[in-house]
Amino acid sequence: MPFSVAIIGAGPSGFYTAEALRRSSLDFRIDLIEGLPTPFGLIRFGVAPDHQSTKRVARSYERTAQDEAVGYFGNVEVGRDIGLEELRGLYDAVVVAIGAPLDRELKIPGGDKAGVYGSATFVGWYNGHPDHRDLAPDLNTESVAIIGNGNVALDIARVLVKTPAEMATTDLPDYAGAVLHSAPVRDVHLIGRRGPLESKFTNVELREMARLEDCLPLVDPGQVPDGPAADADEREQRLQAKNLDTLRSFAGLDAAGKSKRVHFRFFNRPVEVLGGNQVEALRLEKTRVEDGHAVGTGETFDLPCGAVVAAIGTKAQPLEGLPFDQSKGVVTNRHGRVDRGLYVVGWARRGPTGVIGTNKPDAEEIAAHIEADLADAGGGFGAKASLARKTGRPALEDLLDQRGVNWISYDGWKVIEAAEVEAAEPGMPRKKLIRIAEMLAVLDGAGPAPRQRSD
Ligand SMILES: Cc1cc2nc3c(=O)[nH]c(=O)nc-3n(C[C@H](O)[C@H](O)[C@H](O)COP(=O)(O)OP(=O)(O)OC[C@H]3O[C@@H](n4cnc5c(N)ncnc54)[C@H](O)[C@@H]3O)c2cc1C
Repeated sequence: MPFSVAIIGAGPSGFYTAEALRRSSLDFRIDLIEGLPTPFGLIRFGVAPDHQSTKRVARSYERTAQDEAVGYFGNVEVGRDIGLEELRGLYDAVVVAIGAPLDRELKIPGGDKAGVYGSATFVGWYNGHPDHRDLAPDLNTESVAIIGNGNVALDIARVLVKTPAEMATTDLPDYAGAVLHSAPVRDVHLIGRRGPLESKFTNVELREMARLEDCLPLVDPGQVPDGPAADADEREQRLQAKNLDTLRSFAGLDAAGKSKRVHFRFFNRPVEVLGGNQVEALRLEKTRVEDGHAVGTGETFDLPCGAVVAAIGTKAQPLEGLPFDQSKGVVTNRHGRVDRGLYVVGWARRGPTGVIGTNKPDAEEIAAHIEADLADAGGGFGAKASLARKTGRPALEDLLDQRGVNWISYDGWKVIEAAEVEAAEPGMPRKKLIRIAEMLAVLDGAGPAPRQRSD
């Protein structure tokens, strides 16, 4: 009888963990339990709609999902449909791969005014996440401030200024396109507390800002240092030098015919959101960098803007029964171990850092822990026949059926995906179904595929 492992969350870290276990010399039966009907986490709902080539990494997860040893239970939210402790009772090991989907608050006066949006919510809105579909951001303004100096901030800036033609081959939902493309936004300000050397932009994304159809990137040349930080290592220096070159190259771009601007505003710390109920301006304090930290100079100025997007990081959502580190916003763990038979991986473990591929070594480490811990529990694998195994999948199916949970299989997801691809206009990869009810409606009458019991 195989060991049973439940993975909560079918984003990159969940899939990489399933793949690492699948490749193990041990016999595992692995179930991915995903709160939404759709798999792939932030690949679908985070990665920008105009970065379809990045989203294609999900194809490599297909092989994992289609292995008989791997089950998919979409539309099953742990904490709502089944408890963590219940799952632990059914499976030999449980891996928490739930990401870090909650926005961190902008903790400055006025940070809760209407017109201030967290990046996870805002990005989820333009990417068709069912939870954020109804955000209805008010972009009836000429000026938007984005707080943060990483790729998420760049993504948001790009999506705000790209033309309908530039977005035509993406899967931007119609409702988001209607708001974005009728908005009078002319100036987008990217606010960084520190300077270009400390920014987290990757060079490919930064260079993209120079190739926008109707938008010019602007940076004050006085804010761009001559060279990389002397105390950075060689690799870091190379990356810094590339970004500095790119920022300098912006000065030589032709402004003719461009109606929009993205302003890189380094060395500015937001201190207050000004206005009545609605955002009217962002008060910024000029800074200098000392020992890598931003230090306020006391000199402030007000930047008029009608919307603020805070791309200042996200945190995981605590689950009942899961120890949680509130200050770091992650599940409390030691090298990914949480408790006996309980593990955490990906952004729920590390917080929102790194690229999709960063989750792979993380997942491989967790798979190795599971193997080692099961070996210990069984007195070594020589004794594994005697180790009592938990039932896993059939017991989960029974429990979900008893509760009337409308779970869907991977084949069910493929039916949803096919409907999205079929509905797409020419050149678009898909027209996303947004509401969960719409997705489930597609499955009605689609035959046995949506749910295939293992027995
Ligand atoms: C805006 C944005 C843009 C990005 N762009 C890029 C990019 O261009 N390139 C790149 O390499 N990386 C990019 N990343 C980073 C990349 O998306 C992450 O590294 C990766 O998605 C983290 O994987 P994860 O599995 O830990 O979390 P997630 O991708 O968030 O997956 C977690 C999954 O768990 C599910 N879940 C949550 N709670 C429950 C529950 N209680 N029960 C069941 N299921 C649950 C969620 O629905 C979700 O499917 C971007 C991130 C963001 C935020």
